[in-house]
Amino acid sequence: MEKYKVVDLTYTYDALEPYIDKLTMEIHHDKHHVIYCAKLNEAVEKHPELFAKSIEELLQNLNTIPEDIRLAVKNHGGGHLHHNLFWQMLRAPQENNKATGGLLETIEKTFASWEKFQEEFNAAATTVFGSGWAWLVLDQGELKITKTANQDSPLSLKQIPILGIDVWEHAYYLKYQNRRVEYIANFWPIINWAYVEEIYLKNK
Ligand code: MN
Repeated sequence: MEKYKVVDLTYTYDALEPYIDKLTMEIHHDKHHVIYCAKLNEAVEKHPELFAKSIEELLQNLNTIPEDIRLAVKNHGGGHLHHNLFWQMLRAPQENNKATGGLLETIEKTFASWEKFQEEFNAAATTVFGSGWAWLVLDQGELKITKTANQDSPLSLKQIPILGIDVWEHAYYLKYQNRRVEYIANFWPIINWAYVEEIYLKNK
Protein backbone atom coordinates (compact mmCIF):
# COMPACT_ATOMS: atom_id res chain seq x y z
CA MET A 1 0.00 0.00 0.00
CA GLU A 2 1.12 3.43 -0.78
CA LYS A 3 2.34 5.79 1.89
CA TYR A 4 1.54 9.48 2.03
CA LYS A 5 3.92 11.67 0.01
CA VAL A 6 5.13 15.26 0.05
CA VAL A 7 4.35 16.91 -3.31
CA ASP A 8 7.33 18.22 -5.24
CA LEU A 9 7.40 21.95 -5.78
CA THR A 10 6.60 22.83 -9.39
CA TYR A 11 8.79 25.95 -9.03
CA THR A 12 12.24 26.63 -7.63
CA TYR A 13 12.84 27.44 -3.96
CA ASP A 14 13.57 31.04 -4.88
CA ALA A 15 10.58 31.44 -7.25
CA LEU A 16 8.48 33.26 -4.64
CA GLU A 17 11.15 35.88 -3.88
CA PRO A 18 11.05 38.56 -2.65
CA TYR A 19 7.83 37.63 -0.83
CA ILE A 20 8.89 34.27 0.53
CA ASP A 21 12.64 33.71 0.63
CA LYS A 22 14.54 30.72 -0.67
CA LEU A 23 15.83 29.50 2.71
CA THR A 24 12.34 29.56 4.25
CA MET A 25 11.02 27.50 1.33
CA GLU A 26 13.85 24.97 1.64
CA ILE A 27 13.38 24.48 5.36
CA HIS A 28 9.59 24.64 5.24
CA HIS A 29 9.17 22.13 2.40
CA ASP A 30 12.15 19.82 2.96
CA LYS A 31 12.22 19.75 6.76
CA HIS A 32 8.93 20.83 8.36
CA HIS A 33 6.64 19.20 5.82
CA VAL A 34 8.82 16.11 5.41
CA ILE A 35 8.61 15.55 9.18
CA TYR A 36 4.81 15.93 9.29
CA CYS A 37 4.57 13.39 6.50
CA ALA A 38 7.05 10.95 8.07
CA LYS A 39 5.24 11.08 11.43
CA LEU A 40 1.89 10.54 9.72
CA ASN A 41 3.26 7.46 7.92
CA GLU A 42 4.83 6.18 11.13
CA ALA A 43 1.45 6.42 12.89
CA VAL A 44 -0.57 4.84 10.08
CA GLU A 45 1.91 1.95 9.91
CA LYS A 46 0.33 0.77 13.16
CA HIS A 47 -2.97 0.34 11.24
CA PRO A 48 -1.71 -0.14 7.68
CA GLU A 49 -5.18 -0.84 6.26
CA LEU A 50 -5.72 2.93 6.58
CA PHE A 51 -3.17 3.55 3.81
CA ALA A 52 -6.03 2.65 1.46
CA LYS A 53 -7.69 5.93 2.41
CA SER A 54 -6.72 9.37 1.18
CA ILE A 55 -5.46 11.87 3.72
CA GLU A 56 -8.65 13.86 3.10
CA GLU A 57 -10.76 10.84 4.07
CA LEU A 58 -8.76 10.33 7.26
CA LEU A 59 -9.22 13.95 8.32
CA GLN A 60 -12.91 13.98 7.41
CA ASN A 61 -13.51 10.98 9.66
CA LEU A 62 -11.17 11.56 12.58
CA ASN A 63 -13.61 9.97 15.02
CA THR A 64 -13.30 6.63 13.18
CA ILE A 65 -9.48 6.60 13.42
CA PRO A 66 -8.18 4.15 16.05
CA GLU A 67 -7.66 6.02 19.26
CA ASP A 68 -3.96 5.18 19.60
CA ILE A 69 -3.13 7.14 16.43
CA ARG A 70 -6.00 9.64 16.28
CA LEU A 71 -4.03 12.58 17.69
CA ALA A 72 -1.06 11.83 15.40
CA VAL A 73 -3.35 11.75 12.35
CA LYS A 74 -5.00 15.00 13.43
CA ASN A 75 -1.68 16.80 13.97
CA HIS A 76 0.70 15.27 11.42
CA GLY A 77 -2.00 14.33 8.92
CA GLY A 78 -3.38 17.86 9.07
CA GLY A 79 0.14 19.25 8.72
CA HIS A 80 0.81 16.96 5.77
CA LEU A 81 -2.35 17.78 3.84
CA HIS A 82 -2.24 21.50 4.54
CA HIS A 83 1.32 21.81 3.27
CA ASN A 84 0.59 19.78 0.13
CA LEU A 85 -2.20 22.27 -0.57
CA PHE A 86 -0.12 25.29 0.37
CA TRP A 87 2.73 24.52 -2.09
CA GLN A 88 0.25 24.19 -4.91
CA MET A 89 -1.64 27.34 -3.89
CA LEU A 90 1.53 29.39 -4.52
CA ARG A 91 3.36 30.46 -7.67
CA ALA A 92 5.84 33.09 -8.84
CA PRO A 93 4.65 36.67 -8.18
CA GLN A 94 2.22 38.21 -10.65
CA GLU A 95 0.99 41.79 -10.93
CA ASN A 96 -2.69 42.44 -10.24
CA ASN A 97 -3.02 38.88 -9.03
CA LYS A 98 -6.62 38.01 -8.25
CA ALA A 99 -9.26 35.37 -8.77
CA THR A 100 -11.12 35.32 -12.08
CA GLY A 101 -14.38 34.01 -13.50
CA GLY A 102 -16.98 32.34 -11.34
CA LEU A 103 -14.82 32.29 -8.23
CA LEU A 104 -14.24 36.06 -8.42
CA GLU A 105 -17.96 36.66 -8.90
CA THR A 106 -18.85 34.49 -5.92
CA ILE A 107 -16.20 36.15 -3.75
CA GLU A 108 -17.54 39.60 -4.66
CA LYS A 109 -21.09 38.51 -3.98
CA THR A 110 -20.25 36.84 -0.66
CA PHE A 111 -17.93 39.47 0.80
CA ALA A 112 -19.36 42.63 -0.89
CA SER A 113 -16.14 43.34 -2.81
CA TRP A 114 -12.69 41.94 -3.58
CA GLU A 115 -11.17 44.49 -1.18
CA LYS A 116 -13.52 43.50 1.66
CA PHE A 117 -12.65 39.87 1.04
CA GLN A 118 -8.93 40.68 1.32
CA GLU A 119 -9.53 42.72 4.48
CA GLU A 120 -11.48 39.92 6.12
CA PHE A 121 -8.95 37.26 5.14
CA ASN A 122 -6.04 39.42 6.37
CA ALA A 123 -7.84 40.08 9.66
CA ALA A 124 -8.40 36.35 10.20
CA ALA A 125 -4.76 35.53 9.43
CA THR A 126 -3.49 38.33 11.68
CA THR A 127 -5.60 37.23 14.64
CA VAL A 128 -4.77 33.52 14.70
CA PHE A 129 -3.38 33.31 18.24
CA GLY A 130 -0.17 31.29 18.22
CA SER A 131 0.22 28.75 15.42
CA GLY A 132 -2.43 27.96 12.85
CA TRP A 133 -3.97 28.78 9.51
CA ALA A 134 -6.51 31.18 8.02
CA TRP A 135 -8.74 29.77 5.31
CA LEU A 136 -11.20 30.46 2.59
CA VAL A 137 -13.45 27.40 2.78
CA LEU A 138 -16.57 26.04 1.22
CA ASP A 139 -19.06 25.28 3.97
CA GLN A 140 -22.28 23.67 2.70
CA GLY A 141 -21.65 25.36 -0.64
CA GLU A 142 -21.02 28.82 0.86
CA LEU A 143 -17.68 30.62 0.85
CA LYS A 144 -16.47 31.50 4.35
CA ILE A 145 -13.32 32.83 5.96
CA THR A 146 -12.23 30.82 8.98
CA LYS A 147 -9.16 30.05 11.04
CA THR A 148 -7.92 26.88 12.70
CA ALA A 149 -5.37 26.35 15.48
CA ASN A 150 -2.26 24.23 15.04
CA GLN A 151 -2.87 21.75 12.19
CA ASP A 152 -6.58 21.27 12.88
CA SER A 153 -8.19 20.81 9.49
CA PRO A 154 -11.30 22.46 8.04
CA LEU A 155 -11.99 18.98 6.63
CA SER A 156 -12.66 17.71 10.16
CA LEU A 157 -15.37 20.42 10.39
CA LYS A 158 -16.99 19.32 7.11
CA GLN A 159 -15.51 22.31 5.28
CA ILE A 160 -13.44 22.21 2.10
CA PRO A 161 -10.30 24.34 2.16
CA ILE A 162 -10.08 26.48 -1.01
CA LEU A 163 -7.26 28.84 0.00
CA GLY A 164 -5.07 28.78 3.10
CA ILE A 165 -2.24 30.75 4.61
CA ASP A 166 0.18 29.15 7.03
CA VAL A 167 0.77 31.56 9.91
CA TRP A 168 3.02 29.28 11.97
CA GLU A 169 6.19 31.27 12.69
CA HIS A 170 8.24 28.72 10.70
CA ALA A 171 6.42 29.99 7.57
CA TYR A 172 7.79 33.53 7.85
CA TYR A 173 10.13 34.11 10.77
CA LEU A 174 13.47 34.02 8.91
CA LYS A 175 12.46 36.90 6.67
CA TYR A 176 9.77 38.73 8.61
CA GLN A 177 10.58 37.91 12.27
CA ASN A 178 7.56 39.20 14.26
CA ARG A 179 6.04 41.12 11.30
CA ARG A 180 3.24 38.69 10.49
CA VAL A 181 1.09 41.46 9.01
CA GLU A 182 3.72 42.16 6.35
CA TYR A 183 4.01 38.45 5.49
CA ILE A 184 0.23 38.26 5.07
CA ALA A 185 0.15 41.35 2.82
CA ASN A 186 2.87 39.75 0.69
CA PHE A 187 0.88 36.53 0.25
CA TRP A 188 -1.47 38.12 -2.31
CA PRO A 189 0.95 38.46 -5.28
CA ILE A 190 1.97 34.78 -5.05
CA ILE A 191 -1.41 33.02 -4.84
CA ASN A 192 -1.91 30.50 -7.63
CA TRP A 193 -5.52 31.41 -8.41
CA ALA A 194 -5.70 28.89 -11.24
CA TYR A 195 -5.20 26.09 -8.71
CA VAL A 196 -7.54 27.67 -6.15
CA GLU A 197 -10.27 27.95 -8.79
CA GLU A 198 -9.77 24.35 -9.78
CA ILE A 199 -10.46 23.24 -6.18
CA TYR A 200 -13.42 25.58 -5.97
CA LEU A 201 -15.00 24.29 -9.18
CA LYS A 202 -14.48 20.67 -8.15
CA ASN A 203 -16.24 21.19 -4.81
CA LYS A 204 -18.85 23.91 -5.24
MN1 MN B 1 4.09 25.22 7.81
